[in-house]
Amino acid sequence: MAELNLLSQIAQAKLLGRGGAAFPVAKKWHRIKEHPAPKKYVVCNGSEGEPDVKKDWHILLNYPDRVFQGIILAMNFLGTKEAFFYLNADYYQQLQAGLDPLFKQAAAAAYQINLVLGKPSYIGGEAGALLNTIEGKPTQPRIKPPSPSITGINGVPVLLQNVETFYDIALVYAGTYQNQRFVTINQGQNEGVFALNRDVNVEQALKDTGNYPDFAFFVQVGGGASGVVLHQEQLAEAPLTGCASITIYPINSAVLDMLSLWSNFFAAESCGKCAPCREGSKQVKKLIDQAIIEQKIDETLWQKILAIAGSMEKSSICGLGQALIVPLKTYYQNVYLKLDKSNQAL
Ligand code: SF4
Repeated sequence: MAELNLLSQIAQAKLLGRGGAAFPVAKKWHRIKEHPAPKKYVVCNGSEGEPDVKKDWHILLNYPDRVFQGIILAMNFLGTKEAFFYLNADYYQQLQAGLDPLFKQAAAAAYQINLVLGKPSYIGGEAGALLNTIEGKPTQPRIKPPSPSITGINGVPVLLQNVETFYDIALVYAGTYQNQRFVTINQGQNEGVFALNRDVNVEQALKDTGNYPDFAFFVQVGGGASGVVLHQEQLAEAPLTGCASITIYPINSAVLDMLSLWSNFFAAESCGKCAPCREGSKQVKKLIDQAIIEQKIDETLWQKILAIAGSMEKSSICGLGQALIVPLKTYYQNVYLKLDKSNQAL
């Protein structure tokens, strides 16, 4: 009965997963609970490998007890005594003093939460890649369907949620959830991680936190690599998508510096499992590296880059390869086309 109460509390709070995909939490919990497998695990995703996203780090630093409480609530809900905590190895190094007592406390209460450390990377947080790593296999995504939650760990289905989601679960259980989410703001006058109403738009988030710039600017929202790029005039209607990060850039930031930032990241992070992403990310990087040498970018080059990233979007097997088009295309449409090219640094 207690499990049903928690599920209905989660449904009433309209809790969404905070790993980036915003999947309804109640729906996921119900699906795993109803699965006929006799054994199930809970998995906490603490990989947080995208640049400019620091919310899970902030939560684990300040409220680690709530995260563990959320994990244990999920274990009770599923009727399991075993969970896995996949954690960014750098975070563990920094936060070990606060986390170790909580692992011990859980073990003393007969909840076995296994710590698995992962090399910090974007792909490490992808569900299939994360579960493969826990199984001791290469950190590479799985072909879907079936859902990685069902193929799970060595065939045992898993209830997989991100750090912030487990934090939210603890608040919902305690009746103190206030419809907020954590937002990382980078390169503002008052940068940091802030708890804001989850429905706030990007403009309001910048104003409410003392980060609205006094110069012409654009932002990248939802992640410092895969996030959408928006001109300052678009922010009043813009929701906080993805992992709810906002990075501020002066409008006249050098074009090739921006392109290089994104293309280098995707080329370095591609795990190499599928050709469209493996080869496409290399080609885009090569074109941009050449443009930097020549200090030149024209419409032909733009269209070439966008075509490669567009075909990666259609044929890559996971979100990484599918996402390179997002910053490139939105920067091109929302910022680059509006720039005064006679007065713009390449
Ligand atoms: S899209 Fe990229 S990261 Fe994802 S599986 Fe393919 S090569 Fe690996």
